[in-house]
Amino acid sequence: MKKSDATIKKTKILLIYTGGTIGMVKDYDTGALKAFNFNKLIKNIPELGQLDCTIDSISFDVPIDSSNMNVEHWVIIASIIEDHYDSHDGFVVLHGSDTMSYTSSALGYMLENLRKPVIFTGSQLPIGDLRTDAKENLITSIQIAALQEDNMPVIQEVGLYFEYKLYRANRTTKINAEHFEAFASLNYPALIESGVHLKINREYLFRPNSSKKLKVHKLMDQNVVILKLFPGFNQITLHSILNSPNLKAVVLETYGSGNAPTDEWFALELKKAMERKIFILNVTQCSGGSVLMGHYETSKHLEKLQVINGKDITTEAAITKLMYLLGNNISPKLFKTICETSLRGEMQ
Ligand code: ASP
Repeated sequence: MKKSDATIKKTKILLIYTGGTIGMVKDYDTGALKAFNFNKLIKNIPELGQLDCTIDSISFDVPIDSSNMNVEHWVIIASIIEDHYDSHDGFVVLHGSDTMSYTSSALGYMLENLRKPVIFTGSQLPIGDLRTDAKENLITSIQIAALQEDNMPVIQEVGLYFEYKLYRANRTTKINAEHFEAFASLNYPALIESGVHLKINREYLFRPNSSKKLKVHKLMDQNVVILKLFPGFNQITLHSILNSPNLKAVVLETYGSGNAPTDEWFALELKKAMERKIFILNVTQCSGGSVLMGHYETSKHLEKLQVINGKDITTEAAITKLMYLLGNNISPKLFKTICETSLRGEMQ
């Protein structure tokens, strides 16, 4: 028996507006970009009315450029999702592209046992611009967030949609400040490709392996740093960074497949830091590929020191993972093992 229209439940999507270029309109008198009135969103994009879902929206009191994003903002986004988790089927977060990979990676960790879509999107041009990429990004993100099969959301993870592709958010990096194709996910295929149809790459979708309730983690420890190696990097700098007050963990961006100088002072500084219970996580500064500790002589010493292997994780997913694990007071004995384990599909 076919259900009458009145009994078919419409999918409910919550749009969370944090700021970024997408939400700016040009003031034609001054020529400057300014945040648009979010309540008038539907009026600005009448196409939204054609979507077969109910859209509610919530906005940051003061929308921000994502260069101003911080941990407190991440907690606000996580809390909004927590508060609306039972009443809504999916979430779309409008966010500036500059730090979108960081925020969306962080949210992935913060939202443990997530079973609903959380789709981050933004744009390179404001929504009011004639050639804007904002409308397509926003409309398709909402469609993806509303996708259901057998009454279950198709996407059950944090995604990032930009320029016809949905990626696993914690696999992305912003790679271009000019092109509409601003993000790449070099170590993991797109989850959905948008063409005439939405092509869902089902085998790559994340499925949490427990049926536990959503657990929202709000403690992210900020006593971390990213340290990128370059030829000429010297001991004084390394020493002073590793001796920063309260430092608890370091993402060490090494060369190629996880390689670093074999100078004695280098290994010694790392060793002393590790003795002070500072965790060192080895990630590659290459955009694609993986750390393979021990593959070259130039990473054997790191392996011997028991530096944590970041495998093919992005820097964005690595630094937020450290913040999350430290915030959760993981015991130092388990820290390396947990950090080397994929928690949300962020590494192989
Ligand atoms: N600076 C902007 C931001 O990240 C750029 C953008 O929205 O794409 O907020």
